[in-house]
Formats: sequence, C-alpha cells, structure tokens
Amino acid sequence: MKRTEEELKKIKEEVLSCRKCPLYKERLKDRFYPVIGEGNHRAKIMFVGEAPGLNEAKTGRPFCGAAGKILDELLESIDIKRENVYITNILKDRPLENRDPQPEEIKACTPYLERQIEAISPKIICPLGRYSMKFLMEKFELDDRLAEISKIHGKLFKVNKFFHNFTIIPSYHPAVATYNPNMKKVLKQDFKFLKTLLEKTLEEEERRKKEWEFEKREMEGPLF
Ligand code: URA
Repeated sequence: MKRTEEELKKIKEEVLSCRKCPLYKERLKDRFYPVIGEGNHRAKIMFVGEAPGLNEAKTGRPFCGAAGKILDELLESIDIKRENVYITNILKDRPLENRDPQPEEIKACTPYLERQIEAISPKIICPLGRYSMKFLMEKFELDDRLAEISKIHGKLFKVNKFFHNFTIIPSYHPAVATYNPNMKKVLKQDFKFLKTLLEKTLEEEERRKKEWEFEKREMEGPLF
C-alpha cells in the first residue's frame, strides 16, 4: 500500500511539471489544472475517460461537469459510491475546445495512465468512450477483438498478461446521454452488468482467500 501511495504521489508531481506535449502551455496560460485522477487508491474498478473538459481543467477533478453528472447517476443506479472507485483519463490536460485527443498526445500522456493502473491494480477497468477503449485494448494485446464501440460496449475482455489480471468492460462515454437521452438506458444496462461483474469478482477473491488460508493452515500442521 505504501508503494501505491508513493507511486501515485510521484505521478502527480511528474504530471504537474510535465512538458511532454504542447497541451501544458494552454494549461499555464489559462491557469488551469491538470486532471490526474481521483478516488480510492485500492479501488477494484477504474474508469478511464478521454480528457478533461473546461470544468475539470478549472478544478483539477475528473468528470465534474455535465458528463460527470451522468457518471454520478450511473454509479448511483448500481449503488456504487464515487469515492470507492478510481476515475482518470487518457489525457491529463484539456485539449483546446474539447477537440479529440491526438495520437502524439495519447503517446506522450498514457505512460502516466499505465503507471496508475500498475499502482492501483484494479480488477475491472471500464474505458469510457472509444479513445480509451482503443488505447487499453491495444495496450493489453486485444487488438484482434477491437471493434466499433457500438458492437463491444458492455462486453468482457479478460487481461491476463504482463503480471496483470483484470477485466476490461468498455462503455460509451457518459456524454452521449447529454445529446441523446435514449442512450442513458444503454449506459445503465452496461453499468448493471459492470456491477454483476464486480460482485462475481469479489466472490471469487473471497473464495481464493479462504482456500489460501486453508492451505496455509494445513502446511503449518496441528498446533498440539
Ligand atoms: N470527459 C472526459 O472524458 N473526462 C473528464 O474528466 C470529463 C469529461
């Protein structure tokens, strides 16, 4: 746990002084903040959005504007508290006029995300939107299963390599519901499935823990 805290602190310091892509210039000019991530450092679920919007850049907090309201509603619909998950983005600085992230920005910024995943070690990662879905699926060698988000949202992709063991479950970006209210139903269905996955993951963890305790006792032998 100490290592997690130390690494997240280090990431924060590095992002605050990052100059790897030109986005930092706008941040300094407008006296904005980078949006590094927030939530539980031992979270089982990590949400990965696209990039900060204006509200986020003004406050330094992810998903605190209109899309954030939808995300809060989705979390509430499955009875998960925001403080129990971790929320971050692929880009830590706001692209001007909220334009799409550029490949060189993604390349420069995602090593921070990779280290956040490593440090927090979530059991479930939910990319919010096609950019984070594409990045995560390519990063974890799921390129061959990559498709339009309309085809693979709410589906499960197991990652079991490079010492990682988690499930990716892509979701549409919550902002879709701000311009198409019908999409809220789809988002809610996917979040319901995410909750089922979380429950199954926790049950499995508990089962493994019990098995391990039993084996440990057997190895130690009787105490008399
Ligand atoms: N949209 C995102 O992708 N991330 C945020 O933090 C806010 C809006």
